[in-house]
Amino acid sequence: MIAMHGVQKHFGDLHVLRDIELDVPAGQVVIVLGPSGSGKSTLCRTINRLEPVDEGTIAVDGNPLPSEGKALAALRADVGMVFQSFNLFAHKTIRENVMLGPTKVRKAKKEEAEKTAQRLLERVGIANQADKYPAQLSGGQQQRVAIARALAMNPKVMLFDEPTSALDPEMVNEVLDVMTSLAKEGMTMVVVTHEMGFARRAGDRVIFMADGQIVEDTDPETFFTAPKSDRAKDFLGKIL
Ligand code: ATP
Ligand code: MG
Repeated sequence: MIAMHGVQKHFGDLHVLRDIELDVPAGQVVIVLGPSGSGKSTLCRTINRLEPVDEGTIAVDGNPLPSEGKALAALRADVGMVFQSFNLFAHKTIRENVMLGPTKVRKAKKEEAEKTAQRLLERVGIANQADKYPAQLSGGQQQRVAIARALAMNPKVMLFDEPTSALDPEMVNEVLDVMTSLAKEGMTMVVVTHEMGFARRAGDRVIFMADGQIVEDTDPETFFTAPKSDRAKDFLGKIL
């Protein structure tokens, strides 16, 4: 579903992605771990071309990433992304936030977009908040709206970059629960997270990055119980 080959990315002199090889089959949940600055966010952002790459190829569902224009807009719609900050439109209601992508980008009819929004808000457990504005919701609720908004585009892949890092601890689980159910329903997911319980429970695979390289690529159990590299051992020593 996602195929990255020979991907290189620099920011000036800084080599942030080094020869990335990553094939993610449909339905797989990939957890991306690594120290700060190792390139996790950049990796995610290249998958929907928020960041162009210097070399290499990236394809989603067999379609190579176009560089611009309509094809790029279509591809972005195929790849949903949820960030640490929720980035909801403050002056639109929750329902309007979820309807915006389908009506603007997918050219869906209003009634159809409304139905989809209702279904997705039910799915993330906040249908009763649909007429409120983002500021009236808790952080956990806002992040669930952000997930519903991404799902409204009917994406083939969902990218999550530290989706719970900005939340108060008591709100983390309500967001992880939504992500866990998405994973169980077979969504292809790439998740950067510091939630190690979630990584072990919901992940099919762990990618450990250091200095822009994928240093380990294995199943969660092996990664957490028998990491091979010194970098991964050091990382786990600090967080577990
Ligand atoms: P964190 O865990 O802190 O979120 P990360 O693994 O997500 O870190 P990235 O955000 O991908 O790391 O950053 C990788 C490196 O690239 C860092 O050294 C960062 O400072 C640098 N970097 C990221 N974005 C830019 C940019 N737009 N311009 C210049 N350098 C950047
Ligand atoms: Mg990051």
